[in-house]
Amino acid sequence: MTTFADLGLSQKVLSAVTDAGYSTPTPIQAGAIPPALQRRDICGIAQTGTGKTASFVLPMLTLLEKGRARARMPRTLILEPTRELAAQVAENFEKYGKNHKLNIALLIGGVSFDEQDRKLERGADVLICTPGRLLDHCERGKLLMTGVEIFVIDEADRMLDMGFIPDIERIAKMIPFTRQTLFFSATMPTEIQKLADRFLQNPERIEVAKPSSTALTVTQRLVASHNKDYEKRAVLRDLIKQQDDLKNAIIFCNRKKDVADLFRSLDRHGFSVGALHGDMDQRSRTTMLANFKDNNITLLVASDVAARGLDIPDVSHVFNFDVPIHAEDYVHRIGRTGRAGRSGKAFTLVTRSDTKYLDAIEKLIGQKIEWLNGDLSALPAPMESHDTGERGRNKARGRDRDRSRGKRDETQAKAAAVADNETQEEVVVEAPAENVTAAPQRRSERRQQPAGRGDRQHPANDDRRERRNRHRDHDDGPTPVGFGDDIPAFMLVVANVGKA
Ligand code: AMP
Repeated sequence: MTTFADLGLSQKVLSAVTDAGYSTPTPIQAGAIPPALQRRDICGIAQTGTGKTASFVLPMLTLLEKGRARARMPRTLILEPTRELAAQVAENFEKYGKNHKLNIALLIGGVSFDEQDRKLERGADVLICTPGRLLDHCERGKLLMTGVEIFVIDEADRMLDMGFIPDIERIAKMIPFTRQTLFFSATMPTEIQKLADRFLQNPERIEVAKPSSTALTVTQRLVASHNKDYEKRAVLRDLIKQQDDLKNAIIFCNRKKDVADLFRSLDRHGFSVGALHGDMDQRSRTTMLANFKDNNITLLVASDVAARGLDIPDVSHVFNFDVPIHAEDYVHRIGRTGRAGRSGKAFTLVTRSDTKYLDAIEKLIGQKIEWLNGDLSALPAPMESHDTGERGRNKARGRDRDRSRGKRDETQAKAAAVADNETQEEVVVEAPAENVTAAPQRRSERRQQPAGRGDRQHPANDDRRERRNRHRDHDDGPTPVGFGDDIPAFMLVVANVGKA
C-alpha cells in the first residue's frame, strides 16, 4: 500500500501530515502528488471530500522550500470560486505548513484592502484568491504576477457555473507561460475539458471518482410532500425529529429567500439552527461556519453557492428542502455527508412539481433513489385550506367565494399575529448578519424565561403549538400579488406591527 513517505514529499511536510493524523494518502493524493512534485501539469477530476486540497497543498509546500518571496510578486497563485473555499485552503496551508515559514495571503472580498496590501508588500509565497478580488488588486497596481511559478485552478466546474471563466482567462494571461498549472474539477463536461486543454500542457490526468457519482457511504431517500412551503417545513421538522443518529445537518434550499424563511421557521420551532447564503457579509458567513463546525449549532440552512465545496467533516445528515434544479447540485449537496469513508444520510423532499428534476438526477447518478414512506401517489389528500394556491387565488379574485376566503385568511392572520407576538424580533431575517448569528443565543434566553414562553417546553402544549406554528408558517407563505417573492422588508415590518 502506498504511504505518504513513498510520494516524494519533504520531511517537514511528512511530519505535519503525521501530526494531522493521516497515514494513507487518498487516491487523488497518491495520483497527483508525485507528478506535481516533478513539476508536471495536473488535471484532477475529484470532488471535495476526496482529500483533493491536500493533493495540491502538500506538493506546493515541498516545492516552495526552495526560493523566497519578493515584495508584491507572489510565487504561487490558487484561485477558488468562493470565499469559504479560499479560507479553507488557507487553513490547509496553516495545518500542513506548520513547519515552514511561509507567507500566505488570502485575498477575498469583504475584507479590507489595506490589510491584504500589507501582506502582499511583505512578499507572498502563496496567494489564495477569489478571481474578482485578485483582479481588483491587480487593477490597483499592487500586484505583479510575473513571478508566479505554480497556478492552481480549483473547482473549475463551479467557476464555470458562477461565470468566472473570463476572469480566469484574464488572470492566466498575466502569469508566465512557463508556470506549472494544477487544475481540479468535480466534473468534466465539454466546456471544462476545452478550458483544461487551453490552460494545461501535457497534463497528468487523475480521475478518482466517476464524474457525477454519489458516495456509496451515503444512504439516500426521497420524501414525498405537498408543495406548499409550510407543508414542506412540517414534513422536514418531522423528518429531523425522527433521526436518532443526527449529529448535525445541512439543509439546502434553492433560493436565498427560502434559506431565510426556513431558518426563521426552524428557529421559531426551537431548533438549533443557523443560515448561510451569498448575501451575508463575510464576517457573518465565517462566524456561522465556525459555529456549525464547533457544534454550537446543529442545523445549517444553506444555498448551493454558499455551501459548495465547504469542508465540514463529519456532517451526519443532508436534507434537500428543495429538489435542486441542476442535477449536478444534487451530487454536490449530498457530497457534504459520507465524507472520507464515513456513513451519512441524505433526504430529499419531493413534490409533484419536482418530478422532472428528480428524473434528471436519477439519470445523472445512474440509479433510482428509494422513497422513505411511499412515493407521491401515497400522499394523503392536501388539507383544503392549505391547498389554496397563488394561481387559484388570482382566478378567484372578485368572486364571492374570494370574499369568504378573505375572511378565513384574516382569521388565520389574527391567529398568526397572536403567535407572532412572541417572536416579533425574529421577523426580518433577510438582514442576516446579526439576526442570524444571534439565533442560538435567543434560544437559550427563551429557556431562561419562566412565564409565557416557558410553555414551549411542555409536551401537553405540543399540539396547540403545532397548530399555531402551522398558521404562522402559512402566514409566511404566499406573498401578496404585486410584489411576488420580492416583497420589500419595510412592508413585512409594517404588516407585523399592524397585526400586533
Ligand atoms: P477535501 O477533499 O480536500 O475537502 O478533504 C476532505 C477531508 O478529508 C478533509 O477534512 C481532510 O482533512 C481529510 N483528509 C485529507 N487527506 C486525508 C487522508 N489522507 N486521510 C484521511 N483524511 C484526509
